[in-house]
Amino acid sequence: QALISIKNVGRKYVIGAEVIHALKDVSLTINKGEFVALMGPSGSGKSTLMNILGCLDTPTKGEYTLNGINVSHMSDDELAEVRNAEIGFVFQTFNLLPRNTSLDNVALPLVYAGISKTDRSARARKALENVGLGNRVDHKPNELSGGQRQRVAVARALINNPSIILADEPTGNLDTKTSIEIMGLMEDIHAKGNTIILVTHEEDIAQHAHRIVRMRDGLIEKDYQNPDIHTVS
Ligand code: ADP
Ligand code: ADP
Repeated sequence: QALISIKNVGRKYVIGAEVIHALKDVSLTINKGEFVALMGPSGSGKSTLMNILGCLDTPTKGEYTLNGINVSHMSDDELAEVRNAEIGFVFQTFNLLPRNTSLDNVALPLVYAGISKTDRSARARKALENVGLGNRVDHKPNELSGGQRQRVAVARALINNPSIILADEPTGNLDTKTSIEIMGLMEDIHAKGNTIILVTHEEDIAQHAHRIVRMRDGLIEKDYQNPDIHTVS
């Protein structure tokens, strides 16, 4: 079933007399459980599309339906609610709170969800164990390696059982070996049934995805199953 349905979406930016069509006419369907890499040169519209997919922005044309909810015309407050319920974000720069422990960083989305402190701690501890950081719950970000920080961020992204994980250059600040470890973690998460959309510039990283969408000049140029991954689906 379609988890994400984007139909003839456009996004233009108006700056004074100039109109930039960052997305011209994009249609895209993503089903539950897919692992998609979004690629394309700088300026091709990847961030604009990710912002729309992540309910940080709305299209200026066309429709976006996420998990049965038409979010195309929502206010910022309505969007924020959908975002908190439906989306887990992973960023290039980890975006962890520097003064908080791994446990508190991972538990944070549950504060907004109104979960009790005891339950938050128990769930965050379990989530950290699931990403191999059961022995780092009381560490702060500056006491962790880059790869460990990204694992904390992945645990935080998953804590609310979101319907999609949006990962924006998640390996952009990591060395090759650590990048491969983080992509291994992404594959494990995908194998558990999660839907992942990954933006990357790196072909090697994109090869972990099962489907590759390439953008150019605000349009989808190519959209195909990764021939190097053989799956029965
Ligand atoms: P990518 O992520 O692929 O590099 P973007 O989505 O960031 O591409 O940008 C697509 C186009 O839209 C570019 O021409 C960029 O300059 C323009 N753009 C992106 N964001 C804005 C903005 N907030 N205001 C004006 N123009 C923007
Ligand atoms: P970039 O990849 O351009 O360096 P980020 O990956 O940090 O930027 O953020 C990508 C987008 O997500 C930006 O538009 C930013 O405003 C937004 N964003 C950053 N942090 C959060 C957050 N905690 N919750 C929701 N949106 C965020």
